Amino acid sequence: MALSENGHIAETGNKMHHEERIVIVGGGFGGLCFAAALHKVGLKAVVLEQSDKLRPEGTTMTLWNNGMRILELFGLADQFRSMYLNAPGVEYLNQYGRRLAILDHSHCEGGPHEMRCVERKVLLEAIAGQVPQGTIRLNSRVTNIKKSETSPNVTNLELQDGSTYSAKVVVGFDGVNSIVASWLGLEKPKSTGQLEVRGMAEFHNGYNFPKLFRIFIGRTVRIGILPINATKVYWFVVWTDSSEGWRNITPEEIKQEVLQLTKDFQVPHFTSCVNNTSMETLIKNTLRHRINMKPTWETQVANNVTVCGDASHPTTPNLGQGGSMAFEDAIILARKLHQALKSKESQISKVSESERIHQALLDFHRERHGRTYALTHKAYMIGLSAIADTAIKCFIRDWFSIPRSVRTGNYMEPALFDVGNLPINEEESHN
Ligand SMILES: Cc1cc2nc3c(=O)[nH]c(=O)nc-3n(C[C@H](O)[C@H](O)[C@H](O)COP(=O)(O)OP(=O)(O)OC[C@H]3O[C@@H](n4cnc5c(N)ncnc54)[C@H](O)[C@@H]3O)c2cc1C
Repeated sequence: MALSENGHIAETGNKMHHEERIVIVGGGFGGLCFAAALHKVGLKAVVLEQSDKLRPEGTTMTLWNNGMRILELFGLADQFRSMYLNAPGVEYLNQYGRRLAILDHSHCEGGPHEMRCVERKVLLEAIAGQVPQGTIRLNSRVTNIKKSETSPNVTNLELQDGSTYSAKVVVGFDGVNSIVASWLGLEKPKSTGQLEVRGMAEFHNGYNFPKLFRIFIGRTVRIGILPINATKVYWFVVWTDSSEGWRNITPEEIKQEVLQLTKDFQVPHFTSCVNNTSMETLIKNTLRHRINMKPTWETQVANNVTVCGDASHPTTPNLGQGGSMAFEDAIILARKLHQALKSKESQISKVSESERIHQALLDFHRERHGRTYALTHKAYMIGLSAIADTAIKCFIRDWFSIPRSVRTGNYMEPALFDVGNLPINEEESHN
């Protein structure tokens, strides 16, 4: 048996068996941020990522104050501020370009506010840079999860390549189609009956759009345009469609579909945005979510296995908060596990380590449920209220619902959440 950087590795035949204290399934935004946060508080973990490289799905992610706060914890915020624009506000228009509402972020309560659309690849690499070498195990797709038959509160993970891991804590940050959530018995996320295409246009000589986030709303189709920096622009189209049989569509067909869907919109520059989008940045998704009605601490923890991020609370992108909620989960759970495993109280506690972990996981979900439930629900309602398939519904939406909901008082509320700090790793501070 040889000792790895993070734990024991034993060979069984040609297949490796690894023993770890903390295993994270999924090396997306949440999983990597969690590994980085654990490292900061002095806890080692292993990240099992199914892909052969760190590969974010999609091209951009909008970060508001709460998301930027996470970057601040890792000393990354200023780098991102220098690279990406801060959108000064948001404007809602109908498909003919008539303004329905406009909001200047500087007039919203709780400022100063930030709203930056950042490139996912750059963000994922920056977070991965905070994780110690050897932590991220690529090509490590978890295919099966089992309780250990010999050690209580230990969980065994089987990987596609035949290797196995056993761990005292397993945290599934494995996204919308989470295997860990399935193992816990959580309901599969449901389609909201909407599809989305998003892309990133590149204008090498710059563009003449306003720096505002602009959303153009038609009957059952809406377009969003948000400049990222001086040459790049993020755009999306969302429309009502519950079909699932679109998966073999080519990027060129996606472009044609988007142009066809939006042909009645009078949106200056949108066609050039689509035409200036490279095929690699185009992505089409069914929008899915799960609203966790039951208190999640009762269903999302078993045998010291739990889920976080999209695996725990998959949400529609209407608030642009899914990624930031995954980041918040990462910081808060790292804090709870530090309290359970590294704090002075934990060193003298008579409660077993496995019970302390269990309590930490339950406390985490107790703390998070209110916020993640509220945002998932709100995001869904926003998506629903944007659809107006009759003239009367359009009238109500355009003259009442949108002007009333886009107000300075509460618009930025979801982004005002402050995740707080990570505790200092006392071992490191003594060195
Ligand atoms: C159209 C759209 C637009 C969005 N826009 C925004 C936005 O502007 N702002 C924002 O904050 N959020 C946005 N989101 C949400 C955001 O993308 C997610 O909330 C965020 O990526 C969740 O992070 P995560 O780490 O939980 O999951 P993911 O980022 O999905 O990561 C999951 C990881 O787990 C890996 N994995 C899965 N299964 C296994 C397995 N069995 N074994 C090993 N690895 C596995 C995957 O390969 C992946 O790397 C948007 C989402 C959509 C769909």
